Amino acid sequence: MNAAPAGLAELAPASVPAQVDVAARARAIGAGIAARHAEAVDRDGRFPTEAFDALREQRLLGVMIPAEFGGGGASLFEVAAACHALARGCAATGMIYAMHQIQIACLVNHGTNGWHRDLKARIAAEQLLLGSATTEAETGGDIRNSVCAVKPDPGAEHDRFTLAKNASVISYGDQSDVILVTARRNPDAPSSDQVLVVVTKDDYRLEKTTRWDAMGMRGTCSDGYRLEAAGVIGQILPLPYADLSAQTMLPVTHILWSSTWLGIAADAVSRARAFVRSEAKRKPGTTPASALRLAEATAKLQQMKAVILAAIRQYELASGSPEQLVGLSFATAMSTLKVTSSELVREVVEAAIRTCGLAGYRNDTPYSLGRHLRDAHSAALMIGNDRIMSHISTQLLVQRDGSGAFE
Ligand SMILES: Cc1cc2nc3c(=O)[nH]c(=O)nc-3n(C[C@H](O)[C@H](O)[C@H](O)COP(=O)(O)OP(=O)(O)OC[C@H]3O[C@@H](n4cnc5c(N)ncnc54)[C@H](O)[C@@H]3O)c2cc1C
Repeated sequence: MNAAPAGLAELAPASVPAQVDVAARARAIGAGIAARHAEAVDRDGRFPTEAFDALREQRLLGVMIPAEFGGGGASLFEVAAACHALARGCAATGMIYAMHQIQIACLVNHGTNGWHRDLKARIAAEQLLLGSATTEAETGGDIRNSVCAVKPDPGAEHDRFTLAKNASVISYGDQSDVILVTARRNPDAPSSDQVLVVVTKDDYRLEKTTRWDAMGMRGTCSDGYRLEAAGVIGQILPLPYADLSAQTMLPVTHILWSSTWLGIAADAVSRARAFVRSEAKRKPGTTPASALRLAEATAKLQQMKAVILAAIRQYELASGSPEQLVGLSFATAMSTLKVTSSELVREVVEAAIRTCGLAGYRNDTPYSLGRHLRDAHSAALMIGNDRIMSHISTQLLVQRDGSGAFE
């Protein structure tokens, strides 16, 4: 019998044993409690409470907070492996975990003052869940422009602000303890002069404006809200959002989203492989015709894995160098990663459905792939691929050929 294909964690260099720990804990939750409740989470469009209780119990929410603040000090690779492992069992669980860790990465890399340091310690101690409010009703997926603005509060004794945002999507807003919000720096700033504001539950009020009843990723509970917040100026991350996005938010988002989609694809291939094996058992001595499609699905899965691993390596290599992180070559690599992996996840799932035939199309067999396909379709829309490609095409006009290794 063939071994199951390696997950991201199995491809870790041998010199980093701690990675196995984080990935192993996530794998146990993904294959266990998350997988058990995945159908109900999808059917009812509800938050995967059981999986997140388990993640908190295993202290996996604070795993990327540095050890000096009481966190796990995990690397991006480890967290990517965890997203992959969780999404194999329940895509919504994997995606919520990914979105949470993206916010953590922004806070860890760019939250330097006392307020941010205290919050990092609280996240690790209390296993707080972080959400994101970048999408705005007025600007849609154009998250590099904001209409809402940070407003200084002139009546306050200390440097305080207020902020109101028409946030058309905040995944798991009801369950979030902290939200990172994009906004213009001040009411006179142009739409692209943005900052990232960190607000905790005590600082904001959410009024629900829309309910998430979507084709897939139903458990992310990506409702719309009117967000009203107030806080001290020190809560705002000091780096302009344009730089913060280039250095951390964009690459980490695309790596962790892609790792989550890899988990969906890997589970689809597992189901297809199980189907082909059951066919082979029914007709011993022959290779089922469907094995050809399984080979196709597996090849695409390997391709997906390769582009994600390459991107993680590129991020690690560029990490120490802000010039490289904001360079066009790096930005293009990270943007194309998202486009490539979001297309591949759908192709893998479709090839798996072709492998299983009716058994994959039906909703009542061990090989059912309807949920995988619906979840996979969200990938190309999470910041529309056409929007990203249009941006890349403009950048390519000014990008020079690189001179470094593999450029
Ligand atoms: C599961 C899920 C969870 C999410 N969670 C959150 C969250 O927690 N917080 C948050 O802030 N947001 C969240 N989002 C929203 C997401 O980040 C995007 O903002 C959103 O998916 C974009 O929606 P849209 O298609 O309406 O936007 P638009 O960007 O307005 O796109 C509409 C269409 O126009 C096309 N288009 C736009 N610009 C161009 C262009 N220049 N060239 C060619 N075509 C173009 C797009 O490709 C798309 O087909 C989530 C989305 C999903 C699917």
